Amino acid sequence: MKNKQLKLILVSTPIGYLGSGRGGGVELTIISLIKGLILLGHKIILVAPEGSKVPFESKNLEIILVGGIDQPSWQHQKETDPVIIPFKSVLPKLWEIVIDLVNQSDAVINFSYDWLPLWLTKIQGNKIFHLISMGAESLVMKETISEIAQLFPSQLAFHSRRQSKDYFLNQDPIIVGNGFDIENYFFNDNDNGPLGWAGRIAPEKGLEDAVKVASELGEKLLVWGVIEDKEYASRIEYTFKKDIIEWKGFLPTNQFQKQLGKCRAFINTPKWNEAYGNVVVEAMACGVPVIAYDLGGPGELIEDGFNGFLVKPNDIDAMIEATRSVSKIKRRDCRDWFEKKASNKVFAERVENWINRGLNKNLSTNLQD
Ligand code: UDP
Repeated sequence: MKNKQLKLILVSTPIGYLGSGRGGGVELTIISLIKGLILLGHKIILVAPEGSKVPFESKNLEIILVGGIDQPSWQHQKETDPVIIPFKSVLPKLWEIVIDLVNQSDAVINFSYDWLPLWLTKIQGNKIFHLISMGAESLVMKETISEIAQLFPSQLAFHSRRQSKDYFLNQDPIIVGNGFDIENYFFNDNDNGPLGWAGRIAPEKGLEDAVKVASELGEKLLVWGVIEDKEYASRIEYTFKKDIIEWKGFLPTNQFQKQLGKCRAFINTPKWNEAYGNVVVEAMACGVPVIAYDLGGPGELIEDGFNGFLVKPNDIDAMIEATRSVSKIKRRDCRDWFEKKASNKVFAERVENWINRGLNKNLSTNLQD
């Protein structure tokens, strides 16, 4: 039987507008999920910062745009830093809209990794669900997420099991993975191309290690992504021979995947507990095997020897060896893995399941009150 149509409010990240790249992987997560949920027959209201764009239209999608200043991102603050809400911040403005609309919806899904929406769950108890997009980078966020996990365990989901381990949970975590629109990624069979790397250019992404691998192999490294930390990017550039890195900029998905698909191997070198690692799956979607540190999400997405190789974190020699062996991986297997595990359809089904179970659980708890 088809599930009941849900009216869902999706609340975007308060860092950058959708399409800016400043919000990182969560931008694509939201876009893919909206499409997947609409395909399942649900109605969506997207509440997002001004400038946000969704690359398709639907009678089941309403978009409400809100102006305001970006939140600072947690991954660039010290572990003990307090919660900051800047003057004219977009975050409370997004949530004022949500509070106005919440009674007309079945549920709200929050994508911002921030204190305010989590705390609001205590007031709008049964309706706010959170897809947690990062590992614990700050004490106050770790404490808040852990507290909401104790109070409303069925309303929190994570991208990967390893990410969820950063928090104190008193039940098995709900893991929804992530998903990408199959139609946006084309399989490329060419296994003779260059080495590639993509992500925000910021220290937690460890670009320097990938450049070292390329440099030792005497090859170029193609690099895509928003330069979030200019000083960090220049430092890397000056450490290595000038022509090792080929900066490709931040491209929209259609162009990004086209260039990405030409790579022989994709190198992923996180220095933090990467919650998921969108770029890892996008590379596989194009048929590109991934060599990654066995850390966070990538450690769960890569089946060693099947769709890529996993090596010990920070072990550059092992990464060089794995890159040399990359032709052992069948590019078709990478694409097949993607279609089976990370299409936006399977992702939307997992999210639908999570929300329905949470709502039913709340309903039965309320009936028992
Ligand atoms: N990305 C993009 N164009 C580019 C390079 C990257 O759209 O030229 C996107 C990519 O699709 C992915 C995001 O940047 O969704 C990076 O997300 P990821 O989960 O890898 O890391 P995060 O930034 O969330 O830590």
